Amino acid sequence: MSKLKIAIQKSGRLSEKSLELLKECGIKFPNGGGKLIAESKNFPIEVLFLRDDDVTKYVEQQVADIGIIGENVYLEANLPVNVLEYLGFGSCRLSLAVSKGEDYRGIEYFEGKKIATSYPFILEQYLKEKNVNASIEFISGSVEIAPSIGLANGVCDIVSSGSTLMSNGLKEVEKVLDSQAILISSQSLNQEKQALLDKLLFRIKSVLNAKERKYILLNAPNDKLEQIIAILPGMKSPTILPLADQGWSSLHSVIQEDQFWDIIDELKGLGAEGILVAPIEKMIY
Ligand code: ATP
Ligand code: MG
Repeated sequence: MSKLKIAIQKSGRLSEKSLELLKECGIKFPNGGGKLIAESKNFPIEVLFLRDDDVTKYVEQQVADIGIIGENVYLEANLPVNVLEYLGFGSCRLSLAVSKGEDYRGIEYFEGKKIATSYPFILEQYLKEKNVNASIEFISGSVEIAPSIGLANGVCDIVSSGSTLMSNGLKEVEKVLDSQAILISSQSLNQEKQALLDKLLFRIKSVLNAKERKYILLNAPNDKLEQIIAILPGMKSPTILPLADQGWSSLHSVIQEDQFWDIIDELKGLGAEGILVAPIEKMIY
């Protein structure tokens, strides 16, 4: 029987979350660290643990069928693979930064200057788009120190909180792109592998849908029910059950995580009580 091969980062910022996602999809792996390949016992899938830089290439060459990778690394690789899903973790941005003391007024600053980066392809396209001529100095790591050692005038690097930039005396001046972990696949999968992938994707989508949403329960006075229902964008209409207490009902629904606090305030304003918000593990449409 055919097995789906998935490439993920061996150790780094995406490793733990990638494995966690598979686990949330009900896919189990025997414990035993240090292995480069792991086979699931309950789903026909094999995990290849790689340097993140190699994931896109291996998927393109069909060494792996699918992979989890930062969008930044996928874009830099510039290889023909399919992007199947944005996974909602590993969020960061690729930005231009210069020394804190520089008088930076706009992208023209970089005209004729030198920029150090591990992302030469993305940076070249960005500079072209902005009509700036700058020379690109490729370095594979520790890009942040380039300005202080006189290697470059600025850097183009991954930022999440900005603390690494700050501790190296740099300031972020332009955002080149936003990135997060994505699921990619080879462009030519046989029917059997495609069927396995569809099964996995269905599970991934259910997990992601659940993450964005919360289950909400509350008690509400009957005369406010209509108004409360109007501000609850549930899957369909909310479930309403009468309470023993006359004139009150219990209402159950699902809300978007990002609308959560706004809605809670409105609900309280309408007299809702005993509001419970619970995580959802899976959500199947
Ligand atoms: P590898 O040894 O696999 O080559 P790496 O050092 O190149 O690892 P990591 O630092 O583990 O890579 O980052 C992996 C990915 O995590 C990045 O490409 C990016 O998509 C994402 N990421 C999220 N936040 C950050 C951050 N603060 N710094 C760097 N990468 C981040
Ligand atoms: Mg890497």
